[in-house]
This record gives sequence, structure tokens and C-alpha cells, in this order.
Amino acid sequence: MPRLDGKIALVTGAGAGIGEAIARRFRAEGASLVVNDLDAERAERVAREVGGWSFAADVADSGAVARMFGTVAKRHGRLDVLVNNAGIAGHESDPSRAERFASATLAQMQERATSGAVKTHIDVTLETTDAEWERMIAVHLSGTFFCTREALRIMSPQLAGSIINMGSIMGTAGGAGVPGYSAAKAGILGLTRALARELATRQIRVNAIAPGWIETAMTAPLAPLRPLLEMQTPLGRMGSPDDIAHAAVYLASDEAAFVTGQVLSPNGGWHMSQ
Ligand code: NAP
Repeated sequence: MPRLDGKIALVTGAGAGIGEAIARRFRAEGASLVVNDLDAERAERVAREVGGWSFAADVADSGAVARMFGTVAKRHGRLDVLVNNAGIAGHESDPSRAERFASATLAQMQERATSGAVKTHIDVTLETTDAEWERMIAVHLSGTFFCTREALRIMSPQLAGSIINMGSIMGTAGGAGVPGYSAAKAGILGLTRALARELATRQIRVNAIAPGWIETAMTAPLAPLRPLLEMQTPLGRMGSPDDIAHAAVYLASDEAAFVTGQVLSPNGGWHMSQ
């Protein structure tokens, strides 16, 4: 029997990358999909392909999020799985930043290996504007909170549900050059644990996935770092969106009925847990 047979699932940021892979994998396991994305066309394309429906909304906009979940309540009357996946890398407003970060990282490696004295520095924190910082926290952390709060209006009376939040190894290990992203992802992991405790009495499980380096549009600008990332990853490759989608299927399914407050980190061994 399919592992998500008959479940209604909403995936945010599912118009591309990891979210799209999760939507497709959920569908293959029998779920009915609500596909959210900022980009209406992309959301609609994925929804059409998986046989679900789409709702374009910015997860950082609490009004839009409330309208989206109001529509879910009207159309389905229930919600079994929420995946808070929507995210941004932080270099959207300045595409040269990712390139400069990649070349500075490689230069640092070279300097360490040859003279030991590092002369190249990464100044992303100095360059980050108030607006960039606030957008990063808004999309990841507020977006996860807004979607969860609205989902609970449906899930709480059901006394059942699974919420999956997208963290990152940057939220556990930290990352040079991504201060806002690391802070937002670490916040998501804290929020996951708090929600897991609060919602356990209703049998609503809340878990996080903390992916390693995954091949998507988000990591494409870091192409010059790819050999380095592969070398730093014991399993020797970057992950695919499906590597994460399989983890999401498990956490969404009844196989994970005794799993809550956990961080599952498919990362090829880049970061190992205790
Ligand atoms: P992606 O390919 O860029 O896809 C992200 C999707 O989310 C895009 O379709 C994007 O739409 C959408 N989105 C962005 N902001 C949104 C918003 N405010 N409201 C609704 N949708 C929004 O990125 P990805 O690599 O699949 O990342 C998915 C999640 O995994 C993110 O939370 C990311 O932080 C996390 N993650 C990724 C990696 C990795 O290596 N790729 C590693 C760890 C964690 P637009 O393109 O229109 O903005």
C-alpha cells in the first residue's frame, strides 16, 4: 500500500527544487497535494503534473498564508501533512555575492595550504543590509511560523498531523558567508522542538530535515565550489532533491508515528550527529 495513501499534504516552495521533489514523491505515495510557491506559474505547473491544486502565496505574508489555509479548509476540511520548505539563499538581490563567496573560499583554502596565512576574508555580514536580513528571517522563520499557525487551525481539532520543517546543516554547523541563513535555519530547529512539545498532546508530530549540499537552483551559483563540497562530503557527492524527498515521505508517514522533535539530516556525512 502507498505510504501516504489518502493524506492531504501542503508543501510550500514546491514550484522547484526540493519542494517539487517532495510533492512528486508524496503523490507517488498516494497523497493529494496542495502546491504552494511564490511563483504562480511554477506552482500551477507542478500541481497540474501531480494532479493537485496550487496556491501562489508569499509565506512571509501572514494574510496570504491565512487565505491559503482557509482555501485548504474549504476544499478538503482537513490537512494531514504540512511541509514548510520555501526558502531563499540570500544572494538573490546581489548575484555577484555567491561568486565572490565561492572565489574567496577557494582563495582561503589555497592560502592555508601554501603559506598558512589567510589574507582573503569573507565580508558578507558587513555587506548585509537591514532589508536582506529581515527578508531572510521573514521567509524562513516567520514563514514557517505563519504556515504552522494556520495549519493548526485545521490540524488541532483532528488530533493528528505531521509538520516537517526544512532546516539545513547551516543551522546546525553554521556557515561562513551565510549569517542570516544560518540564524534562520537554527531558529527553525528551535521552533521545531518547541512545537513538537506543545503539539504532542494532540498527536501532531513536528520534525525537521536538515539537508546537506543539494543540487538545486539555490546551490547552482556555487558551482566553482562543487569539487570542494564533494571532497568534504564523505559519500563523495552532492545530494539530489529526491534524497530529501525520501526523508520527507518517512516523516510524513505513519511509519514515523513515534518520531517527533527530531532533526533528520541527509547530508552524505558532511555533518555527523552525536
Ligand atoms: P530552490 O530550488 O530555490 O526552491 C525554493 C522554492 O521556494 C522556489 O520555487 C522559490 O520560488 C520558493 N520560494 C522562495 N521564497 C518563497 C516565499 N516567500 N513563499 C513561497 N515560496 C517561496 O531551493 P531548494 O534548494 O529547493 O530549497 C528548498 C528548501 O531547502 C529551502 O528552505 C532551503 O533553504 C532548504 N535547503 C536547501 C539546501 C540546498 O543545498 N539546496 C540545503 C539545505 C536546505 P522563487 O524561485 O520564485 O523565489
